[in-house]
Amino acid sequence: MQGFIIRLQRVKDEDLILAILTQERLETLYRFYGARHGTINLGHMIDFEIEHSLKSSIGRVYDVIHLGFPWLLDPSRTRLWHYFISLFYPHLRESEETGGFYFALLKDAAERWGTQNPKRVAVEAYARLLRYEGRTPDRKHCFFCESRIHDPSVSLIRAFQYAHTDCAHRSAVDKHAADELLKNQSALFLSDEEIDTLWTTLLEGL
Ligand SMILES: [Zn+2]
Repeated sequence: MQGFIIRLQRVKDEDLILAILTQERLETLYRFYGARHGTINLGHMIDFEIEHSLKSSIGRVYDVIHLGFPWLLDPSRTRLWHYFISLFYPHLRESEETGGFYFALLKDAAERWGTQNPKRVAVEAYARLLRYEGRTPDRKHCFFCESRIHDPSVSLIRAFQYAHTDCAHRSAVDKHAADELLKNQSALFLSDEEIDTLWTTLLEGL
């Protein structure tokens, strides 16, 4: 099966516990050091098999093949990918049956990561996630003071909730561009500076 390594935890010596997001599930698996393996790193998409044994409650990962993306040769894109993919474990840790959405979201993002501004890809992916989870924000009212937002620009706080810039005390983005992002999951009208702002917000958590 295929999956993304969304968490990698080192346990005694060089053994690892991996959280792998597959097409349907979040798997927690053990990887023994010294076994023949492809490269195992945070964020990698791998093909692998699971072996269950009666002796252990946790399955063992084997026959690992790294399904690489060309941009992995670019350290800055790889670093951003690590930040992005690290957001998913805290978000999904309570679920075992995740369904196909999150894997497809990461696969689509990974395929665009090398040719587009990765932060823009991440921000669009997050808008899709919010819609999928039914968390699309109220775009008319301020999260803090609850009154209407009439300003041409707006601040987006965690979960991309809208707020007056004076209430949120953080950088603003164009409101029309933010509306387009959250209505149609398109970051087209956001400048690269605005994408930087939203990326910083995104890193606070999904
Ligand atoms: Zn306000």
